[in-house]
Amino acid sequence: MALSQAMREKLLSIGFSENALSQIESYSPLMTDLENYSGTFSVSSQGSYTIGRKENAHIFIQPNADMSSMILTLTHELRHAMGSYQANDENTYPNINEYVSAYLLGEGEALYAEYNAAKFFGISAFGNTSAMHKDWVDVNAWNFKPTLDSLIRQYAGKPNFQLCQAIGDQIVRYLIPSTDHPISGEQGFLTYGEQYAWRYISQHSSVIQEYNNTFADGSLNPTLTDTTDRDRYRVKTLANTKNHFFGTAGSDVLINKAGGLL
Ligand SMILES: [Zn+2]
Repeated sequence: MALSQAMREKLLSIGFSENALSQIESYSPLMTDLENYSGTFSVSSQGSYTIGRKENAHIFIQPNADMSSMILTLTHELRHAMGSYQANDENTYPNINEYVSAYLLGEGEALYAEYNAAKFFGISAFGNTSAMHKDWVDVNAWNFKPTLDSLIRQYAGKPNFQLCQAIGDQIVRYLIPSTDHPISGEQGFLTYGEQYAWRYISQHSSVIQEYNNTFADGSLNPTLTDTTDRDRYRVKTLANTKNHFFGTAGSDVLINKAGGLL
């Protein structure tokens, strides 16, 4: 298979090398997603991510001199754009757990595609991530490649959906998104599970307003961009993965804007 001239130029313009393009052409799952992709690509300076789905998708790639990681990033982000199990808008979910599960499933699908690409290209660095902090997360997920291998064995012969869901629940939930660990070695960052939980909590409850009324030293921010570690710790107590989103002591009651339990 060969990339179209337009796609070649696009990928070169966002930081891929000629050699990386030849490698991409040798891997059919990635080529299939690229051929079906009609959205936009842009360069990002703040991590790689995807907004929107299918023809409305916009993929942002942070350039990296390491072409192996560029190829894995492209594979991952294309699955967010083109995958079968990607989440919808947050307002379509009735409660926090359904919302978080839907996003973890979508990340599970993207991570699984990345894993398969790493295997095909012989990229052994996959899974040796520093993007988890063992004081905050489930230590079983610390080195996730063996966990992923065993899930693949466990779900052999079962629908792909179930495997992606298990990967989301058992691995992705505990990973720190690459856009959310600005201070290496610090603990004030959120896992994927917590980040999604916080997004839902902040939109569907009055917790931001309550915190701002309670603490005189500033405000909580729904996106957590440009915030201090203090804000992150406060969010962590509300969205903590192990406490099922109900505070560090499991005793916080979150009320949604309509007056029901969140
Ligand atoms: Zn992702």
